[in-house]
Amino acid sequence: MSNSKLEGKVAIITGGASGIGKATAYVFADHGARMVVIADIQDELGEQVAAAIGSEKCRYIHCDVTDEEQVKATVEWTVQNYGQLDVMFSNAGIIRSKERNSNSDQNVLDLDFAAFDHLFAVNVRGMATCVKHAGRAMVEKRVRGSIVCTASVAGSCGGDTDTDYFMSKHAVVGLVRSASHQLGAHGIRVNSVSPFVVAMTSLAHHLTGTEAEEARKAYDPKTKLKGVVVKAKHVADAVLFLASQDSEVVTGHDMVVDGGFLLK
Ligand code: NAD
Repeated sequence: MSNSKLEGKVAIITGGASGIGKATAYVFADHGARMVVIADIQDELGEQVAAAIGSEKCRYIHCDVTDEEQVKATVEWTVQNYGQLDVMFSNAGIIRSKERNSNSDQNVLDLDFAAFDHLFAVNVRGMATCVKHAGRAMVEKRVRGSIVCTASVAGSCGGDTDTDYFMSKHAVVGLVRSASHQLGAHGIRVNSVSPFVVAMTSLAHHLTGTEAEEARKAYDPKTKLKGVVVKAKHVADAVLFLASQDSEVVTGHDMVVDGGFLLK
């Protein structure tokens, strides 16, 4: 398999300080990306990831995706410094808004709308903001770029709790379907990746614990493919496919990475 699927490309990864975004930053850099810009709100972790990958290939920038000016500035900074934007991995997302200190599990009968609004600001409006400004930069520079959004299996089913999260991921799938219609005329592809619970990310600790064995036990009854645990690297490899020319004719697609969880 070629190890240079993103040779010379410039990418932004939101939520790249941790979990899936961090794993994807390593994979993009390993595959020859000229520059990977990590955009996150966890400055110390983001700086650490960028330093570990190397400042000649990876830079960290503070960017809260709920703030359109910050997203716009991040895209503009990237284009000014590196010439263009080829790949936007819009990945930042939250579950059970910690910032709102909500005690609700977001069962529909117990929805806390302050927490709901914050989650939507990150998972839905934040994603749309990233697609908007990445799309504009690509159109302006006539780049036939690739935009990948992180949805979730929660975008294709319902759940016992976390109504706001399930709703938000359905919205991400809808965003990708609409944006791929609209940006196709410019040669820009828009797809999503939909992981099942990714073991050992901070977002999923409350579901799988922090150990591989705990994660495997939590998984096996739910997935059709036995003995496997979805890891951040599996998702990163799917994102690499969608970001690279290997998926040249794939757009509007939601790629599940779920060990068969969604299989009927
Ligand atoms: P994570 O918590 O490890 O990483 C999420 C990153 O997003 C963090 O670095 C965080 O600082 C950043 N972030 C949060 N709010 C932000 C904001 N307002 N602006 C910029 N950055 C912000 O979790 P993860 O599992 O790597 O999550 C990445 C994506 O994957 C999310 O969209 C999540 O919904 C999705 N997802 C995760 C799982 C899972 O089980 N972990 C499963 C399916 C989908």
